[in-house]
Amino acid sequence: MRTLFIYPEFPKTFWSYEKILELVNRKVLLPPLGMCTVAALLPQEWEMKLVDRNVREVTEAEWDWAEMVIISGMIVQKDDMAVQIGRAKERGLPVAVGGPFASSTPDAPELDQADFKILDEGEITLPMFLEALERGETTGRFTSEGDKPDVTATPIPRFDLLELDAYDSMSVQFSRGCPFNCEFCDIIVLYGRKPRTKTPEQLVAELQYLYDLGWRRSIFLVDDNFIGNKRNAKLLLPQIRTWQEERGYPFSFATEASVDLADDEDMMRMMHDARFESVFLGIETPDESSLETARKVQNTRNPLDAAVDRITA
Ligand code: SF4
Repeated sequence: MRTLFIYPEFPKTFWSYEKILELVNRKVLLPPLGMCTVAALLPQEWEMKLVDRNVREVTEAEWDWAEMVIISGMIVQKDDMAVQIGRAKERGLPVAVGGPFASSTPDAPELDQADFKILDEGEITLPMFLEALERGETTGRFTSEGDKPDVTATPIPRFDLLELDAYDSMSVQFSRGCPFNCEFCDIIVLYGRKPRTKTPEQLVAELQYLYDLGWRRSIFLVDDNFIGNKRNAKLLLPQIRTWQEERGYPFSFATEASVDLADDEDMMRMMHDARFESVFLGIETPDESSLETARKVQNTRNPLDAAVDRITA
C-alpha cells in the first residue's frame, strides 16, 4: 500500500515561532511524532511518504503516487485538515484520519469526508483498521473504548520519513498520561491519569536511531508531564546520561513537567546530568483561587516563584 501521511498546517500563532525559526534557519519547531509512530505501527512492507505541510506543499507527484492518505492533527490544525481531506477525495483516494482532533471530536464537520476514523491510541485501533482493510471494508470508525495500550511494545517511530533539516528539535515520547486532574486539560481525557511509560531501553534505542540518522541538535521529550511517573523517569535518566557520556553529549533535552519538580532535588540533578537544559512548566496563573477552580491544586502547595527559583538555580 503506497501511503501518504499528511500533517496539516498550523495557523500562525505565538506558538508557531516563525520569526525565531527564521533566525535559526529552520522551518518548524517540532516534527509530527505521532505520524512517525503510526507509520511504525503499520505494516513495514507498505511504502510510505510523509509531508509536513508546515515544511512544504504536497507535490502533484506525491498525490499521483498515493493509494491511501492518512491525516492526523490537533484542534488548531482542523481547517487545513479539512482542506487536505478534500484534496485527497477530489483525487478519489481513501482517507484515514486520527490524532487528538479526530479522537476528541470524531463527528466534527471538518472530518465528514474521511473514510476511516482511527481514534484514540493507535496501538489499539490501528490493528482494527488493518483488519477492516483485509475484510475489504471501505469505511470504518475504530475506538479503544477507553482501553489504554501498554506502550512498552510501541516500535521506534519512523524518524527516517522526516526531512530532518527542516526541524529545530526532534521529538521523542517516554510517557503518556498525567496523574493530576486540571479541569482544562485534554491530556488526561486522551491518555488517562495513570502515566504509562516506555522502557528506558526503548527510549535510548530511539535516541540511538536519531543519532544514526545524523541528528545532533536538541530533543524535546513531548511527555505532557515528564515526572508524572517519577519512579520510571528516574530509571530512564541515568541511562540517558550514560548514553550521552559515551557519545560526547550529542543532544540537549527539553521537556514539560509539573511544578512539583521543584520538590525533587534528585530528579532535578538527574535531569541536569542527562543534559536537560530547559523545562516547560504549567504555571497558568499565580492566583490561588483560580488554580483551585481549575483543580490545578499541585500549584498551590508551594509559592510558585520559589519553586521556579529552585528549578532554575
Ligand atoms: S499537570 Fe499538566 S498535563 Fe497534568 S493534568 Fe495538569 S495541565 Fe494536564
